[in-house]
Amino acid sequence: MNRYDAIIIGTGAAGGIVACILAEAGKSVLVLERGSALSFADVGRDQLRNQRLAIYGHNAGPELIGNPRVFVDPHGRSRIVKPHELDYHNNAACVGGGTRVYGAQAWRFHPDDFRMASKYGVPEGSSLADWPIAYETLEPFYERAEWELGAAGDGESIRHQIPRKRNYPLRPVAPGPQTVALQNGARQLNWITTSVPLLINTEPYGGRAACIACKYCVGFACPTDAKNGSQNTVIPRALATGNCELKTSTIAEAIETDERGNVFGLTYLDQASGETRRQTARAKVVIVSAGAIESARLLLNSRSPSHPTGLGNEHDQVGRNLQGHLYPRAYGISAAKVFDGVGPGVTIATTQFNHDNAGIIGGGMLADDFIKPPIDFWYDSLPPDLSRWGIENKRFMRENYTRVLHVRGPVQDIPHPDGRVTVDAAVRDKWGIPVARLSGTTYRATVDAAEFMRERGEEWLRASGCEKVWSSQPGLILSGRQHQAGTCRMGNDPKSSVTDEWGRIHSHDNLFVVDGSLHVTNGGFNPVLTIMALAFRSAEHIARVI
Ligand SMILES: Cc1cc2nc3c(=O)[nH]c(=O)nc-3n(C[C@H](O)[C@H](O)[C@H](O)COP(=O)(O)OP(=O)(O)OC[C@H]3O[C@@H](n4cnc5c(N)ncnc54)[C@H](O)[C@@H]3O)c2cc1C
Repeated sequence: MNRYDAIIIGTGAAGGIVACILAEAGKSVLVLERGSALSFADVGRDQLRNQRLAIYGHNAGPELIGNPRVFVDPHGRSRIVKPHELDYHNNAACVGGGTRVYGAQAWRFHPDDFRMASKYGVPEGSSLADWPIAYETLEPFYERAEWELGAAGDGESIRHQIPRKRNYPLRPVAPGPQTVALQNGARQLNWITTSVPLLINTEPYGGRAACIACKYCVGFACPTDAKNGSQNTVIPRALATGNCELKTSTIAEAIETDERGNVFGLTYLDQASGETRRQTARAKVVIVSAGAIESARLLLNSRSPSHPTGLGNEHDQVGRNLQGHLYPRAYGISAAKVFDGVGPGVTIATTQFNHDNAGIIGGGMLADDFIKPPIDFWYDSLPPDLSRWGIENKRFMRENYTRVLHVRGPVQDIPHPDGRVTVDAAVRDKWGIPVARLSGTTYRATVDAAEFMRERGEEWLRASGCEKVWSSQPGLILSGRQHQAGTCRMGNDPKSSVTDEWGRIHSHDNLFVVDGSLHVTNGGFNPVLTIMALAFRSAEHIARVI
C-alpha cells in the first residue's frame, strides 16, 4: 500500500490549487479524479450536448450511463435523474472539474457577503449565518488566485464596494455594442457599473496565448487555452514538481479510519485500465475537494462502527444547506443591432444591488451574457408570447437574434437546512457506490430577492432603449446546480458547521474539506474565485501543519 503526505480527492477549482501548493511545498501528493483529462477535441463543439445547454447530453462528464442521482421534488416525489438533466445539479467530472468548461467569471464576494446574519438577522427557519472569517482575511488569497491563474478586469470601478490592494494582472475584455447600450442605460439610472472580471487571457499570460474571441467560452473548452482553469495552470505546476501523482478515471469510494476512529487513508476504485480495481492508499492527511454534492456524498458514505452516520456528521450537518444561485434573467429588443458575436460576450455588470435593498435580504449582481449560439438563444431567450416554432418564430429569430439585449445574474441564496444531500443506499452508480439524493429548496426569501433583481433587470433594459422587455419568473427550487456550495460549511460551532475556518473537519485533525462545500453563504456573485481563494488559504495552512 502506498503512503503519501496528502491524498486529494478531485481536480476542480479547489483540488487543483491544493495539489499545487502542497506539491510545491515538497509534500508527496496523490490526487484522484473520477473523470478523465479531456482534450479540446474531446470536449467538442456540439451545441446541443454541452455543459451550458445539455438537452441531449453534455461534454465534460460524468457519463450519462452509470452515474445516477436521486432527486426529490418539493412535493416529496423522488426519481432517478441522469447527469445532463437539470435536477441532477451537475457541474462537471473531468480533470479541471467545472473549470474545464466554465465561463470563468471571476468575482470576489462583497465584504457584507461574509456577515449576512449580522447584517440582516436570521430569518426564522433559515440557516443564514456569518462566515468565521472576514473579507479582509481572504483578500490576499483573492489576489493570489487572480495573479497565479490570470484574471482580467478593472478593480478600480468598484473598489469602494469591494476593496483590493492590487488591480488585476490583465486588462478587461473589450466593450461591444451591447456594452455601450447598457452603459448608457446605467448612466441614466445613476447605477454603478464595472467590467466583468474573467479568468481569461486578454493578452498572453502564464505561457498561454490570448483569447481569440471565438465565442465558445461557457460550456466548451478554449481553442487557444486562453481560459484559465485548474487543468492548464495549477495542475501542470503540481505535476512539474515530481511530487504529485494524478490518477484519472479513479473514484474515491470511502475514507478509512482505524479502530480508534482516526483517518488513515482511503479506498478507491480505479477504472483507468478498463477493469475496476479496488485499492487502498495511506496519507497523513486526506483532503476532500470533490465539489459540494460529491464531497458530502463521500463523507456520508465513509461509515464505520466509530462513525455510523459518516465522517464529520456527529451533528447531522454534512450535506445540509446545499445552495447555489437563483438566476433571474431579463431580455429586451433594442432598436439597433447590439450583438456582434464577438466572444466572450460578457462585458458589463452592475453591483448596485448586491446589498442594502429595502425589504430584501441580500441581492445580487446583473451582467450581460456570454455569446449564445442561435439554438441557445432559441431555447433560452424568446419572449413568452412568441410561438416556439413556425414562420412567426423563424421571422423573430432572423430579425432579432442580433437585437436582443440580455442581462442576468446570481442572487444571494438564503440557505435552508433542508436543502440537502443525503445518500440513497438503494441506488448505486456504475462503481457500486450509493448515490447522492438531493432534496429540499432554498429559503423562500431568496425568491423575493430574485424577483427584485428581475425587476431591476427589466428596468435596466428599458433605460437602455429597449421597447419590448420580458423576463423569467424565479420560483422556489433547490438552487445548487453549477454554483453548488455550502454542504460542509465552515464555522466555529461544531453543532452548526462541519469544519473550522481552514476546512478541517471538527472531529478529525487530519481530514479536510476544501471546495465550494465550505461556503457558509454563496454571495451575490459567481462563486469560483472565492472557492479558489479559500483553497490557497487552506492549502498553505495544511502545508504548514503536515
Ligand atoms: C458550464 C459552466 C459554467 C460555469 N461558469 C462559471 C463562471 O463563469 N464563474 C464561476 O464562478 N463559476 C462558474 N461555474 C461554476 C464553477 O465551475 C464551480 O463553482 C467550481 O468548479 C466548483 O469548484 P469545486 O472545487 O467546488 O468543484 P469542481 O470544480 O466541481 O471539482 C470537483 C472534482 O472532483 C471530482 N470528483 C467528485 N467526486 C469524486 C470522487 N469520489 N473521487 C474522485 N474525484 C471526484 C469531480 O469529477 C470534479 O472534477 C461554471 C460551471 C459550469 C459547469
